[in-house]
Amino acid sequence: MKLDILAFGAHPDDVELGCGGTLAKEIALGKKVGIVDLTRGELGTRGSVELRNEEAAAAAKILGVSVRENLDMRDAFFVNDEAHQLKIIEMIRKYQPEIVICNAIDDRHIDHGKGSKLVSDACFLSGLMKIETEHKGEKQQAWRPKLVYHYIQWKNITPDFVVDITGYNDKRIEAILAYGSQFYNPNSNEPETPIASKNFLDSLNYRAQDLGRLIGVDYAEGFTVERYLGVNSLGDLI
Ligand SMILES: [Zn+2]
Repeated sequence: MKLDILAFGAHPDDVELGCGGTLAKEIALGKKVGIVDLTRGELGTRGSVELRNEEAAAAAKILGVSVRENLDMRDAFFVNDEAHQLKIIEMIRKYQPEIVICNAIDDRHIDHGKGSKLVSDACFLSGLMKIETEHKGEKQQAWRPKLVYHYIQWKNITPDFVVDITGYNDKRIEAILAYGSQFYNPNSNEPETPIASKNFLDSLNYRAQDLGRLIGVDYAEGFTVERYLGVNSLGDLI
C-alpha cells in the first residue's frame, strides 16, 4: 500500500500529541496516512503494554489512518545503528511516502531526539539502491521521501512553519485522550507523571491556540524542517 504521509513516533501517543490535528486534516483532504510506532512504550510509568496497544488502536481509528504498525524496538534503549535503521528503511520502502513526519529534534524524553535522528537518517539511507532490504521475502525498491518534518513535543521548540488545524482540534484531543492511562485523570490511583498533570492536559489546547493566534487562526500545530521551505509564489504563504 502506498501512503502519502508516514508519521513515526518513539512511543504510541507521540504522533497524536505532536501532529494529530494535522494528520486528521490531511486525511479529511483525501491523503492516505500511516503511523509507525518504534516501541510499545513498555517503560511508561502508567498503564501496561496491553492497555497501550488498545489505546493506540483506538486513537488510530479516531484519526482515520490507513495503517498503524509497531517495530517493537526497546523503549528507552533503542539506538541509531544499522539494525534499527534497516527496520525503518523497510517501512519507508513498504509504504513509499512522499512525506515523513517524526519526533521532535530535541526533548525531555531521550527517545524523542534519538528517534528523530534515527528516522531522519533512515529516510536518507532508504534512497540508496545498494542498501538491500526485503519485506516478506520480496526485494524492496529504494525510496526516499521528498520531505522530512519534525513535530514539537514537551519542549517549546520554535517552529519553521505551522499548520492551521482549526476544525480538527476536537478530533486531535479525542485521539490523545484515547490514551486514558497516560493523561490527567483525577480519579486515577496511578503514580503522578509530568504528562499526567492537569497542566500538561491544559497545554494541549493552549499551545495549539497560541500557535494559531500567531497566524490568525484558532488552532495550529508547529513543525521544524531539515532544509529550506520552497514555494512557487509569494501568495502560497497567505
Ligand atoms: Zn514519547
